Amino acid sequence: MIRLSSSLFARPALFVYAGIGITLATTAVTVASLYEMRLDAMAQARVAAQNLVISLQKEIERNLDIYQLAMRDVATSAETPGILRLTPEVRQLVAFGSAANTTELGALFATDATGKLVLDSRSIQPRKLDVSGRDYFQVQRLQENAGLYISAPFLPFAAEPGIPQIALSRRLKDKDGHFAGIVAGTLRLNYFRRLFEDSILGRHDTITLLRTDGTVLMRQPFHEGDIGKSLAVGHSLEPLVRSSHGTYIDIAVLDHIERLYTFRRVGSYPLVVVVGFATDDIFAGWRKRAITVGIVTVILDSLLILLSLMFSRQLRKRLAMERRLKRLAWFDALTGLPNRVQLQREALRMLTNANQHGSTLAVLFIDLDRFKRVNDTQGHAAGDEVLSEIARRLQDQIPTGDVIGRLGGDEFLAVLQDCDVLRAKQVAARILQAVYEPILINSKQDTRITISASIGIALSPHDGEEPGILLRNADLAMYQAKGAGRNQVRFSAPEYERQAKEQLELEVALLRALRGNALNVAYQPKVDAAGVLCGVEALVRWENNGQGIAPDRFITIAEESGLIAEMDAWVMGEACRQLAEWRAEGLNVPNISVNVCAADFKRPDYPGFVSDTLQSHGLVATDLTLEMTERVLFDESVPDIRKSLDAIHDLGIALSIDDFGTGYSSLSYLHRFAVKELKIDKSFVQGIGRDAMAESLAQTLIHIGKILKLTVTAEGVETRAQRDFLGTHGCHLYQGFLFSRPLAARDFARWVRAHRPCTLPGDPDAQATTLGASPD
Ligand code: C2E
Ligand code: CA
Ligand code: CA
Repeated sequence: MIRLSSSLFARPALFVYAGIGITLATTAVTVASLYEMRLDAMAQARVAAQNLVISLQKEIERNLDIYQLAMRDVATSAETPGILRLTPEVRQLVAFGSAANTTELGALFATDATGKLVLDSRSIQPRKLDVSGRDYFQVQRLQENAGLYISAPFLPFAAEPGIPQIALSRRLKDKDGHFAGIVAGTLRLNYFRRLFEDSILGRHDTITLLRTDGTVLMRQPFHEGDIGKSLAVGHSLEPLVRSSHGTYIDIAVLDHIERLYTFRRVGSYPLVVVVGFATDDIFAGWRKRAITVGIVTVILDSLLILLSLMFSRQLRKRLAMERRLKRLAWFDALTGLPNRVQLQREALRMLTNANQHGSTLAVLFIDLDRFKRVNDTQGHAAGDEVLSEIARRLQDQIPTGDVIGRLGGDEFLAVLQDCDVLRAKQVAARILQAVYEPILINSKQDTRITISASIGIALSPHDGEEPGILLRNADLAMYQAKGAGRNQVRFSAPEYERQAKEQLELEVALLRALRGNALNVAYQPKVDAAGVLCGVEALVRWENNGQGIAPDRFITIAEESGLIAEMDAWVMGEACRQLAEWRAEGLNVPNISVNVCAADFKRPDYPGFVSDTLQSHGLVATDLTLEMTERVLFDESVPDIRKSLDAIHDLGIALSIDDFGTGYSSLSYLHRFAVKELKIDKSFVQGIGRDAMAESLAQTLIHIGKILKLTVTAEGVETRAQRDFLGTHGCHLYQGFLFSRPLAARDFARWVRAHRPCTLPGDPDAQATTLGASPD
């Protein structure tokens, strides 16, 4: 099976989006090209209509021109005086000689002023007709400047019944210029009908011949009723009258069909030829193609979307299956915890990490005691419930970043990084406690079961640096725990066992000592260059079973077991009580320093506690100095530690930076927290005379203190040479075995009495200074 989860395929929705995207794009392109095709169809129709209208207009104009010329000859003849005196044959020849080829179109004739025919192209003896009622006669008679007039359609008097005609007429004048009749030519409209019929194209296409006043003279397709109708009410007449040619789209007045109309004025005649192509016909071809293209596009697009949907669904299913398989492969189905395979991977990763960073790592092998009995007596369903519940509890006990998994059956494994003996023991103890809580089994009608566990611990690198070896050692240790009576923790290495046991015992003993007031405080003087006492540092001491325990050791235990704050509070109270007592005895001790750590600040209102302590012994703020390492200032685990420091400063209590030079040495915070004193760490002091590097560092640290106007105190001064070196470079105060070891209260009082300034008579500057006074 190809791994999908790491590729583009890990996002099935993408394929649906892509499908929709492609569909939209192709649809847009299709719509655009269809639109273009539509425009093309229209353009082509326009060209065709224009060509047709031009050819029709030319043809009609040519014939009318011929007719007009013939009419002019008739007119000239009619106006010639004495024409009626010629013989009829000659007269006919003179008048209609040039009209020989116009018989196709109709008849030419002239009338007198009363409308009676005087010359007639149809017969040598003019027919006895009176046209005085015709419009073409009336117009000429009444309008002097009518010019060439084209009549409305009319039916002839006789013959060819039903075939309408029009007539062209001109006015005849006598020699005085008065109306003397008309010359006229009738035009059978059939001529136009045939002309138009020959040109017609589509079913809904039209060709119309109009008078410019909107009267229809001929229209194709032919309907008798159309002839003589007026289109003057139609809105489309306007452009026809105004310009000589043009094109527009309109709905026909006569049949209400939308057409593309192209028109042209017939020369100078008051006639217009209009060709109309139905837009339906124009777009018929296009529509067919559009429908085909549309259907194909819709089918293709639907197919594409369908395919992408199917593909993404398929993909989603496959991904889900892959995830399920992965879970099956890496996680335990019952508890959801990492399984053996996953544990091995994780352990390897954490071990590699630990080896790289030189840190320790603990492997806890956890095995439930007599779990088989639960299965046997309560059934497997109950057994499963127990395992699930235990898994949950175990997970709760494991810090984030560490791992707990199920090896199988009732065996669990925890891997804890950055974990030493003590912490491993603590976590194991918590696990034992959590497992031992009664478990409620619902499937057995709320039966309660109590079960214990045995835990074996192996530590890396001591017990091995490979997961397999660590696991085996932890397993062996677990068997020892079982052998020792179950519900126990055992370390793989015996010395750890001892160490952990001791540690635990010490913890208990320390708690007892603290609560039983069995701790002590030792006092170490701080002196100036002249040996004058300037302060004293309180250092906690513990004697367990007559054996002194190194402060560094039991302070670590106090920190790890959470006792430190209580212990420091006790030391502060004791130191203040002692200072007050000395003063009551008349001993001049200017100031007392106590050591504090970050955990002390976790107490709500620590500043309040400090000031209460001072007050309860009748002391003031300037009597106390708090010593802390740089790390305390930056401790993130205590909220608002900086606010507390500000509050303490506001009380007037001095802050001193302990072990200066070994921490962050960021100078800005010294100012920020209104620090009063720097204590140069004894490692620099003790390097004086031995280590050039330490010497120059000590020098630099003193320099920093001087620049920042802080009291610089050197701790761990053991030799005169050290004191002299520090003195020459401007150190203000000294503390160390050279002056005194930390002493019991009574011994300290004795030391003070023995070192009264008066015992140094050779030193007139000798004078007790308190911290906070400018050292310069
Ligand atoms: P620190 O605050 O740096 O205390 C000075 C340490 O130097 C003390 O060690 C002191 O006995 C030792 N010392 C003094 N003069 C000399 C000397 O000339 N040579 C040498 N080699 N050492 C000298 P101690 O008493 O073992 O305390 C160790 C650390 O424990 C202290 O270091 C301080 O950080 C912490 N500590 C002591 N008492 C308390 C307390 O009440 N509360 C807290 N939180 N920490 C305390
Ligand atoms: Ca200190
Ligand atoms: Ca120190």
